[in-house]
Amino acid sequence: MSAGGPAGLAGPDNQPKVEIYDTTLRDGSQQVGLDLTVADKLRVAAALDALGVDVVEGGWPGSNPKDAEFFARVGELDLKNAQLAAFGATRLPRRGVDDDANLAALLAAQTPIVTLVGKAWTLHVDEALRTTREENLAMVADSVAYMAAAGRRVVFDAEHFFDGYRADRGYALAVLDAAVGAGADTLVLCDTNGGTLPDDAARVVAEVTASGRGRVGVHFHNDSACAVANSVVAVSGGALHVQGAANGYGERCGNADLFAIIAGLELKRGHELLPPGRLAELASTARTIAEFANLPFEARQPYVGSSAFATKAGLHASAIARRPDAYAHVDPGAVGNRQHVLVSELAGRSNVLAKAAELGLDLSPELATEVLDQVKAAEHRGYAYEAADASFELLVRKIAGALPSWFSLDSYRVMIERSEAEDRSEAIVRLRLGDDRVVAVGEGVGPVHALDQALRRGLSGFYPALAGIHLVDYKVRILDGRAAASAVTRVMLTSADSVGEWTTVGVSDDIVTASWEALADGVAYGLLRAGAETPDASPALDTDVPLDLETITENA
Ligand SMILES: [Zn+2]
Repeated sequence: MSAGGPAGLAGPDNQPKVEIYDTTLRDGSQQVGLDLTVADKLRVAAALDALGVDVVEGGWPGSNPKDAEFFARVGELDLKNAQLAAFGATRLPRRGVDDDANLAALLAAQTPIVTLVGKAWTLHVDEALRTTREENLAMVADSVAYMAAAGRRVVFDAEHFFDGYRADRGYALAVLDAAVGAGADTLVLCDTNGGTLPDDAARVVAEVTASGRGRVGVHFHNDSACAVANSVVAVSGGALHVQGAANGYGERCGNADLFAIIAGLELKRGHELLPPGRLAELASTARTIAEFANLPFEARQPYVGSSAFATKAGLHASAIARRPDAYAHVDPGAVGNRQHVLVSELAGRSNVLAKAAELGLDLSPELATEVLDQVKAAEHRGYAYEAADASFELLVRKIAGALPSWFSLDSYRVMIERSEAEDRSEAIVRLRLGDDRVVAVGEGVGPVHALDQALRRGLSGFYPALAGIHLVDYKVRILDGRAAASAVTRVMLTSADSVGEWTTVGVSDDIVTASWEALADGVAYGLLRAGAETPDASPALDTDVPLDLETITENA
């Protein structure tokens, strides 16, 4: 195998092409709480393909029907960049390859790449497999040869390789020899329990690479918080294939975060891993996949998180405005992120101006002072704008006179019902939309859900964009010591549309009032993003839409 890798390409710094192998759909989906339907898996595969990864491992067709269905349906996708891999174990001990159901399922998946996992640690051969070491070598060789004979490119995952190499180097290498001798194309050194540290990872990868057995790949888990570091040093040491999962998903502490690996190797090591221009899609891809996975997106995630380039100190904001490169380790735009300036009560006026400029608002010094005063007063009452960008933007726009009014609240009333069988709440919301008055009823589990339903029902006839906006997170915190007399409640609410998400904040002595405030801001911001017309300009309001309590109650 040439040092140039599968495509024989070289990066701008003459770096060899490193193959990016995604295992989100197999290893990544072992994460607790990550439950992808087949449709979700297809969406994730499409997103990874659009980003431009080389290989998408679709699953383990021999282990569960869902993965088999994925492979049956994946032809629906028109993949442009990625090749598909199916994952499975080597044949059973003392059995033939021909009557092995797992190998048969791998072939039935019809993927160009088959990834076979085999034991490389004597402890596991002796204790887990409970067979002879010779038989394990035969299992590896037979299974690889079987897949190669069927025309598959075979990637061999050497399980627990780093532990095996430490325990019995000769045997671990003999396992690699069995795989490569039978036709494996890539030998993947797996740190299956994630315990390896970077210096050991670098040394072992360099030794195996130097031994000239074949193309070396790596697969790290993050149990020592070193999965990305290990992957990067492995590539520096000669690995030409890196496995990882989107957003570092995976069981226990996760797999190596493929996105941080890609960003680091492209921006700091001169590798060309994705097709030209695709690195700038990294942040949005990370977010999109989190959405499909229905997991909260980690703000502190390196490179792609919303806080990855954020700074809080007012001291720095003016300097950042002058020299963005003085405080960020890479250009945020390179990975599709942005230099985000947080607002807080520590903020100086330069922070507010920088933030307003980020929003495309040109504030006069007087208005900036006004914004700052209001932010400080509000944060003193318990608002937290640094985590609620949408509410901050609405506040700035309001002060700047650049906030359309889509609706305003006349009043609401909430009834909470608790019984043995269920908790049920009902809300009546009275709104003004321009000259119209709208009354709407909503029913829900708990008062906030009922208010949300009532608000949506009241607005839905006027703002079709609302249908694409939904709540994704709702957090309540009780703050003490802020108000003199009693504790106050802060609600942080995250809403999303198909493009992204935003967070709004509400504060009150009363949890329902605080929730309403965050809810109303969340809807208003969604309408702002959607470019919804205000009632005065909206043609929907030219016709007198009959919205009264009776009709709406019938629809409830
Ligand atoms: Zn793994």
